[in-house]
Amino acid sequence: MNASRASKKSSDTQAREQKDARRSGAQRNGAQRIGARRIAVIGAGMAGIACARTLMQAGHDVHVYERLPQAGGRMRSVNTEHGSFDIGAQYFTVRDLRFELALQTVPGLCRPWSVSTLRVLDAQGRQSSAAPAPTEHHWVAVPDMQSLPLAWAAPLWDAGRLHLGQRVIRLEHATGPGGWSLHVETADATSQAVPGFDAVVLALPAPQARQLLQTTPLALPLVQDMAAVEMAPCWTLTLSYPMAAQAGLSTLGPQWNAARTTHARAAWVARESSKPGRMQSERWVVHASPQWSQEHRADDGPRVLAKMQKAFGEVTRIRVAPRHASAYLWPHAQTLSPLGRSHMWSASASIGLCGDWCLGRRVEDAFVSGLEMALAIA
Ligand SMILES: Cc1cc2nc3c(=O)[nH]c(=O)nc-3n(C[C@H](O)[C@H](O)[C@H](O)COP(=O)(O)OP(=O)(O)OC[C@H]3O[C@@H](n4cnc5c(N)ncnc54)[C@H](O)[C@@H]3O)c2cc1C
Repeated sequence: MNASRASKKSSDTQAREQKDARRSGAQRNGAQRIGARRIAVIGAGMAGIACARTLMQAGHDVHVYERLPQAGGRMRSVNTEHGSFDIGAQYFTVRDLRFELALQTVPGLCRPWSVSTLRVLDAQGRQSSAAPAPTEHHWVAVPDMQSLPLAWAAPLWDAGRLHLGQRVIRLEHATGPGGWSLHVETADATSQAVPGFDAVVLALPAPQARQLLQTTPLALPLVQDMAAVEMAPCWTLTLSYPMAAQAGLSTLGPQWNAARTTHARAAWVARESSKPGRMQSERWVVHASPQWSQEHRADDGPRVLAKMQKAFGEVTRIRVAPRHASAYLWPHAQTLSPLGRSHMWSASASIGLCGDWCLGRRVEDAFVSGLEMALAIA
């Protein structure tokens, strides 16, 4: 090989490498590839974000619509003057290798929460069975659970692809490429049509997905396929005891930090302040059982607050009045009967569904569902 050919070859190689590097950098930043499709993802919980970030990395022109002013869905955390509360997901497991690899993209964001304190209690707060053996870590994001979906949503936000405070109220389809339109309502109740999508993904709890699918005849077969999926509500109570930090007292009540109970009202009780990376001020979260939440779904907040606080006292023996207490209803919290496969995709109609309910009821189920939905399209 002569010198000029060698230098030509090396400059060709260099140019190709630079082009590849530019292309992969562009894809990371949300630029599109040839053959890219314009895709709407509805819902910015873990499933929607996992789906959208994968589609964006594959070079598609993906837009996420979320009805709330922030991403995270059921991994939401709320801030109070006494510290934050994870009002939805409490921790997550890492069983799927792809989830583990995705978590490596946000090093240091997630930390294990001590599982040795997880108890199973009866209705009076007595230990009713041995704590399950700690076979796996219970992971939490720091400084709160919502930080994980927010971190993964950041590239979508930076690229102007995450549309918050936009509730999709109707789907419409016209034949041909770019045939899907979303009808979107903002917080001030104004609505507009957003046309030109080649595909639509609903990353919503099953009952909300069903409602939206019913607005387009093209999606009716999907509604039939998900008929057996059931989800239950969950009333959540948050309590703050900042006074516990005074006069040499660092915690109130029991020595354990998290417990599942057979109490009719309080199914899960956890010391929020025991999670890593949180403010130390004593705080508790209580989740009511699916059955009790269903029976009291229509009750008002103050009534539920009083009942759940009583249950909390019975389980923990903490009878002191909290400085802060509030109750929150998740209307579609927990899957009772899952779909049994990772996602639904109609190639003929270019519409799909994902969410935790496809596989189960965990954060990881939502991630895997969103990822596999994206892989089915990409
Ligand atoms: C009380 C509670 C405790 C839990 N505890 C745990 C736990 O300890 N461990 C665990 O692994 N999992 C737990 N989970 C489950 C976990 O939170 C979920 O599995 C996961 O977060 C679901 O993600 P998702 O993306 O499927 O749905 P979601 O997080 O519900 O996301 C759906 C998104 O769609 C948005 N949306 C709805 N309708 C529209 C519309 N019309 N237009 C636009 N946007 C819309 C919603 O606002 C939401 O942001 C818990 C859940 C709850 C509620």
